[in-house]
Amino acid sequence: MRAGRRDLIRDLNRSLVLNLVRERGPLSRAEAARLSGLSSSTVTEIVAVLLADGYLMEEGRVAGGSAGIGRPATLLRVNPAAGFVVGLKLTADSLTATVTDLAAEVRGFVTVPHPPATSRAGIVAAFDEAVALALEAAGVDRGDVMGLGVGAPGAVADGRLGGSPIPGLAGIDLPRLLEEQFGLPAYLDNDVNTLTIAEQLYGAGAGASTFVVVTVGRGIGMGIVVNGVLHRGRRGAAGELGHVLAAPDGPRCWCGRRGCLEALAAEPALVRDVLAATGRLHPPSELAALAAREPGVAAILASAGRLVGRAVGDAATILDPERVILSGEGVRLGPAYLDAVRDGVRSHHGMADLELVVEPWGDETWARGAATLVLRELFHPAHLRGESAPSPAAPRAVRPTPTRARMGRGGPR
Ligand SMILES: [Zn+2]
Repeated sequence: MRAGRRDLIRDLNRSLVLNLVRERGPLSRAEAARLSGLSSSTVTEIVAVLLADGYLMEEGRVAGGSAGIGRPATLLRVNPAAGFVVGLKLTADSLTATVTDLAAEVRGFVTVPHPPATSRAGIVAAFDEAVALALEAAGVDRGDVMGLGVGAPGAVADGRLGGSPIPGLAGIDLPRLLEEQFGLPAYLDNDVNTLTIAEQLYGAGAGASTFVVVTVGRGIGMGIVVNGVLHRGRRGAAGELGHVLAAPDGPRCWCGRRGCLEALAAEPALVRDVLAATGRLHPPSELAALAAREPGVAAILASAGRLVGRAVGDAATILDPERVILSGEGVRLGPAYLDAVRDGVRSHHGMADLELVVEPWGDETWARGAATLVLRELFHPAHLRGESAPSPAAPRAVRPTPTRARMGRGGPR
């Protein structure tokens, strides 16, 4: 790891200039100074460092000065290949790792089975294997990685996962564990939040000040951005849409209560209900095609979709968002489900014209979301966002890595 990389994440003015060029570039130095409010000598100094480190590239020239006189100005843009970040998405039985460049483009990803961890060593070994394989798939050196971002289901507060469907991780300071193992800054957040940050920086949330991201898959979640800031709540548990009450005497949820939305309308519930109705076990990936042929299955999907739509409509009634983004594996459930979600939302007062965007979905999308935890610290650090850092690992100095000898373990095979 090059020495300047970690420092860059923590240097506010450099982040400011870098983010301006990312968002508004290509830009001249003079424009960067005007837009950032920094003096032109400060910008020139920062740009020189960013060029020397390879983060910025110069391209083309435009006539300098408003009257077209003076020295031609060189335009600056971010070099996407100046560094790479690793994003990891943890589920109860797998770990997906993706490597992205600075433009959040996926360069490679892998999914490895991940048996429930019983020890810290087991957790570290699983991460080490996934990261090594993803770097190999991307053709990226470990030394060019700037940090790790992890998304996991459940509430995340103080860098720890609580109330999660993943056993064995409760109370473990995962960012610290990963920093010690990899010698890189590591960040942890709820997986729906990581996806929401990705939508805000690079996706359908760009340009919206207040929006929500609703995910359907194994569970149902919601990321909430209000006035440009991700809303986390008191315990990091904001947006647990899957646990709003949808049917008071409904089936039992993994959280212990009855009738949670998730227990009625997430993918496992659909598989269960289709099995009960048809006597056949179909994985979620087959349900859309099945619904197109069998009206009974279509009715099950539509009824679940309406429940989700009603819950989202309730949330929208309270938050009045500019946009609702639907994402997650559940996007594959097809029109029977998605149309019902739309109908459920739009049946609410004042929601008939609410913008609903369905995001295309790929296996690496969750992990890409996690990668943006690191990119956000690079381009738009917590102190500039007016938020507390996503994990206590962020402001802490990275310690040396006494466990370095273990790093080769679980490498490519
Ligand atoms: Zn529940």
